[in-house]
Amino acid sequence: MKTQPLYLKDSYLKEMKAKVLDVKPDGNGWKVIIDKTVFYPMGGGQPTDQGTLTSDLWKSEVYQVLMKDGEIWHHLKSSDQPTIGMSLHGVINWDRRYKNMRVHSAGHVVDFAMYLLGYSPKTLMPFKGDHGKKSYIVYLGSLNEDVKQRLEDKTNELVKKDLKFTTLFQPFEVLQKEAIYLQPGLPINKPLRTLRLETVGAVADGGTQVKSTKEVGEIIISSIEDKEGNTVVNYSLAS
Ligand SMILES: [Zn+2]
Repeated sequence: MKTQPLYLKDSYLKEMKAKVLDVKPDGNGWKVIIDKTVFYPMGGGQPTDQGTLTSDLWKSEVYQVLMKDGEIWHHLKSSDQPTIGMSLHGVINWDRRYKNMRVHSAGHVVDFAMYLLGYSPKTLMPFKGDHGKKSYIVYLGSLNEDVKQRLEDKTNELVKKDLKFTTLFQPFEVLQKEAIYLQPGLPINKPLRTLRLETVGAVADGGTQVKSTKEVGEIIISSIEDKEGNTVVNYSLAS
């Protein structure tokens, strides 16, 4: 990947200086690859960042950021073509990102609670999640009991404890020792981004995260559905 993903090291970076490395026409505007970015590309269930890229004589809105064929493309509204080598100042829409970060971290609090209750990954295997406007986690397998209240209680117990989230890069063999589960298909030949929740455990994760469970705030488990043998946990932030 040509772009240094600054958001993986620090989820709280709101702006950066960067240089344009590649430009391609895209619909009515342009898309660019830049040498470093704080813009999170849509993925892992977390929505795209939006914001602006500006140079001395040029400015554009970034409406979407996508990872395609291993490269991060910033999709621009501007009809004026940016040029390779151009120096830019990038700023993300922080309100949007911070909300997305809280919803994403909330999903992990719910998932860690499922682990502490003993359901995941034994009876239910985490499969995927979506942390946008409609937020949910899909587990492979079903439960034959109603755990909605117990899950909400355990989740908010973790919130009240104000446990710290930390992220770090470590080799697969090291992550393997502390992970509560490993998603299939993780690369084993490069350091893996790890999300750790104080006193609970760790998982491999590539998204942006808040610093503690208190920052997520109260979480509502709105429903748990059984869909064709899979379990869907729908959750949301109370505020
Ligand atoms: Zn995640």
